[in-house]
Amino acid sequence: MTRVRFAPSPTGFLHIGGARTYIFNWLFARQHGGKVVLRIDDTDRERSTDEALQSIIDGLHWLELPWDEQHHQSERRTKHVEAAEALLAKGLAYRDFTRQNALPEAKDAAGVWLANPVMRELTRDESDRRASAGEPFVVRFRVSLGTDRTITFHDQVFGEQSRKIADIEDFALLRSNGSPTYHLASTVDDSDLGITHIIRGQDHLTNTFKHILLFEALGGDLPVFAHLPLLLGPDGSKLSKRRHGEIVSVTNYRDHGFLPQGIINYLCLLGWSPKDNQELLTRGELIELFKLESVNRTNAVVTFDEDSEQSWADPKALWINGQQLRSLPVRDLLPYVEIELREAGWRLPQNEAGRKPSLEATVDLIRSRFNTLKDFTERGAAYFNDTFPTDIKAEKNLNKEGVRESLRALADRLATLNDFTSESVETTLRSLAEERGMKAGLMINGARAALSGQSVGPSAFAIFTALGRDCVIDRLRKV
Ligand code: GLU
Repeated sequence: MTRVRFAPSPTGFLHIGGARTYIFNWLFARQHGGKVVLRIDDTDRERSTDEALQSIIDGLHWLELPWDEQHHQSERRTKHVEAAEALLAKGLAYRDFTRQNALPEAKDAAGVWLANPVMRELTRDESDRRASAGEPFVVRFRVSLGTDRTITFHDQVFGEQSRKIADIEDFALLRSNGSPTYHLASTVDDSDLGITHIIRGQDHLTNTFKHILLFEALGGDLPVFAHLPLLLGPDGSKLSKRRHGEIVSVTNYRDHGFLPQGIINYLCLLGWSPKDNQELLTRGELIELFKLESVNRTNAVVTFDEDSEQSWADPKALWINGQQLRSLPVRDLLPYVEIELREAGWRLPQNEAGRKPSLEATVDLIRSRFNTLKDFTERGAAYFNDTFPTDIKAEKNLNKEGVRESLRALADRLATLNDFTSESVETTLRSLAEERGMKAGLMINGARAALSGQSVGPSAFAIFTALGRDCVIDRLRKV
């Protein structure tokens, strides 16, 4: 059974690079009928915060890609310590009593950096005696010396990777305060939790050699490794909040009205693309098409213009989100729109027998030019609320000669219609225009402005029926 894990440290918000790692893990697991483990790497107690944990969980929940199991490393500490003790007992690890400030900086003659070669050679008795006397120590892994073994593994993304064992130092497993290091905790957990595939950021690729040694020493099966290239900003530096701002944080996209489908689709295309370069992909298609082997080895660039108004997102991300927003079955889009409207404090339009089409029809009508959910409460405000802004061009259309007056006359005519449909409205408007010797287009543009505040949008006659007769008459009379 395929088992993958995502292992964030709760020391900050959920980075889009982390989210992409999670998404790739999730797709891979689902494709193989496997399980996704969320492992919270909270062994660093000083830097881990509940707030960061909450924001990571919120960000992951928002993606709507549920995980199957959740573990907290801090709760597994006894396991980590026991593993270190077992390695000590087998002589695969040793206690290093060197005080921090006495650490030799130099490499030894063979080019191998040792924490303190003297400590490797302490006898078991001497080591036990000093430990029982209360002398502080770190526990180090004993990387075999004197062999010219090369550790090799096949990375699913980066291909064959190797490193001479002589280039690996005796790394720490337990700190002098007894706390496990990342290398120990991560490997013990991956081993205990039966992780079959470790898919993580490229920044961990060099750690993998150490982890392989540890997996071997612990006696577990070796998982398959895949490292993902990093995300860079437009300036070529590693994408970071300090340098690049909000664009790095997953919640930024949620708060700007992205759909989970939009951000997932966009993040997948950062460093991966399906064979035929299809750009718009549903969750089902992603599960089917995602391949670790086709993840690029080069770092992916998040492109955006720091000086533009839309510096909070890559224009490509917005484009993809817009495409997703327009192509989702409207029924699936509706719950997101409803949340957006409720958060704006607006009532939801009702399907009042024959007067107003359902919310579904309105959403479907107006979404054709929208990119984010915010557009429903901003550009689409007039469809859901009595007060809405009027854009400059719309205002101009209203101000053209005779338009306001004709719209008031149109309101009176519409009040007498038996049937209020887009066809009957159109006939009424056109004959009124003709009677007044006015171009129908002027009235149509004026009506669009009066009813929606916009100079562009869906078919003007569809707007009439989307709003319903009462609302239309009211707005036309108020021009
Ligand atoms: N907590 C580590 C990190 O956030 C996990 C790395 C790993 O996946 O092994 O970088």
